[in-house]
Amino acid sequence: MSDKQFKLTVVSPDKNLLVDIPVSAVGARGTEGDFTAMPGHIPFLTDLKPGELWYRTNEGAHKMVSVSGGFIEVLPQKVTVLADSCELPGEIDEERANRAKQRAEIKIKRAHELAAKGLLTTSDEAELRRAEIKLNRAMARLKFIDKYRSRR
Ligand code: ATP
Repeated sequence: MSDKQFKLTVVSPDKNLLVDIPVSAVGARGTEGDFTAMPGHIPFLTDLKPGELWYRTNEGAHKMVSVSGGFIEVLPQKVTVLADSCELPGEIDEERANRAKQRAEIKIKRAHELAAKGLLTTSDEAELRRAEIKLNRAMARLKFIDKYRSRR
């Protein structure tokens, strides 16, 4: 492997999306900001926000995958993403993401109505947090689809 390349692996509990593919750059949305990692980068580990992870292939092509949070480990010769879930652009079902968004919005609205009446229980609060996470994931998938389409 040349010093202008490193390897990228993106996996989630239910799939190995990319395994040790040679790339020349990787960009992601860390919880502390967007970043680009190049071969030889100093080691670091951070949480990922839901959204786009991009990489540049050896041939210079810009590619994107969608991740729904997780962790990324950057080492000088290797980047590993342990995603909560991840998809290639063509794998994302837009209707499913829209349905997930609507379900989450309904749950959030209900929780806010209960909160306004002072009736929100601890379990409603937990449900609200889960709905917010689902909403973030669904919106990240929809935004990803839009961005992918606009690049083609
Ligand atoms: P949903 O409520 O639709 O299941 P979710 O955000 O809860 O959405 P995840 O838990 O992030 O789903 O993912 C579960 C599995 O379903 C993963 O394999 C993920 O890649 C896949 N997945 C989730 N949403 C979509 C989608 N809109 N299109 C294609 N695959 C999806």
